[in-house]
Amino acid sequence: MSLQFNTVVFGPIKSRRLGNSLGVNLLPAFGKVCNFDCIYCECGWNKDGRDGGEMPAKEIVRDSLESKLIQIVSENIPVDSITFSGNGEPTLHPQFSDIIDDVIDLRDKYLPGAKITVLSNGGRIDREDVKNAMLKVDNPVIKLDSANDKTANLIDRPQFEYRVSEVMNKLAPFAGRFVLQTMFIRGIFDGVKFDNTTKEELTAWYDFIDKSRPRDIMVYTTDRDTPSQSVEKISEQELNNIAAPLVSKGYKVIIAG
Ligand code: SF4
Repeated sequence: MSLQFNTVVFGPIKSRRLGNSLGVNLLPAFGKVCNFDCIYCECGWNKDGRDGGEMPAKEIVRDSLESKLIQIVSENIPVDSITFSGNGEPTLHPQFSDIIDDVIDLRDKYLPGAKITVLSNGGRIDREDVKNAMLKVDNPVIKLDSANDKTANLIDRPQFEYRVSEVMNKLAPFAGRFVLQTMFIRGIFDGVKFDNTTKEELTAWYDFIDKSRPRDIMVYTTDRDTPSQSVEKISEQELNNIAAPLVSKGYKVIIAG
C-alpha cells in the first residue's frame, strides 16, 4: 500500500466530509507515524512506514503553506478547510501547538473564510499544549470507533493503554465543540470477528455521544484499500440508519458512505 501524502501541503482535494480541503501533512513524506495502527488505515501499517524521513520543522510547514495560499488566492481556487491529516497522527508533531498558531495567522491573512480542521485519534488531547491548540481550531475532529473497549482496541490497535472511559474524560473540555468521527466497518482480524454496527455496539456509542456532547458527528466507512484485506465497508443505507436516532435528537450528522 502506498502512502497518500508526499508533500507537506497537498490539494485542495474534494473531501466527502469537508468540501474543498487543503491538506497539511505534519508527518514524514514517505513514512507513517501514529500512536494507533488502525486495521483500516489508508497509510498502511506503522511497521511499514518507519523509514520514511523526518517530520517537517514548523518553518517548513509555514513556508510551504504560505506559498500555496498565495497561489490559491491568485488563482481564486475555492478552499473550505485547511485540514491537518496526512501520514499519521498530527498531534505527535513536537511543534504541533506552534504550528497551529502559524496556520491560524496564515488563514486569517489569506483565506479568512476557511475553517481549520484537525483530524486526530484523540490519544494526546489531554496534554496541555495539544489540548489548548485543539481548542483554538474550528473543527477538532476526534475519532472514537467503538464505545466498547475490546472492539476499539481491536479496530484501532492503539500503541498505548486505551480505555473508552479515559477518552470520555479527555473530551470533557471539548464538550459542545468537537466533531466526533466514527468509522463503521465489520470483518475478521487475526481470526477475531468484529462489527461496530451491532445493536449492543450502537447502544454504547449513542450513550457515549449523549455524555460527551459533540457539536457534530461524522460517520463514514472505508472507501480505499485497507492494510487488512478482511475489512468490509458498510452500505450508505446502514450509515443512514445508524445516524437516524441522532438526527431525530437534533444532532448534525455528516454521513459519508
Ligand atoms: S489514527 Fe488515523 S493515521 Fe493513525 S492508524 Fe488510525 S487511521 Fe491511520
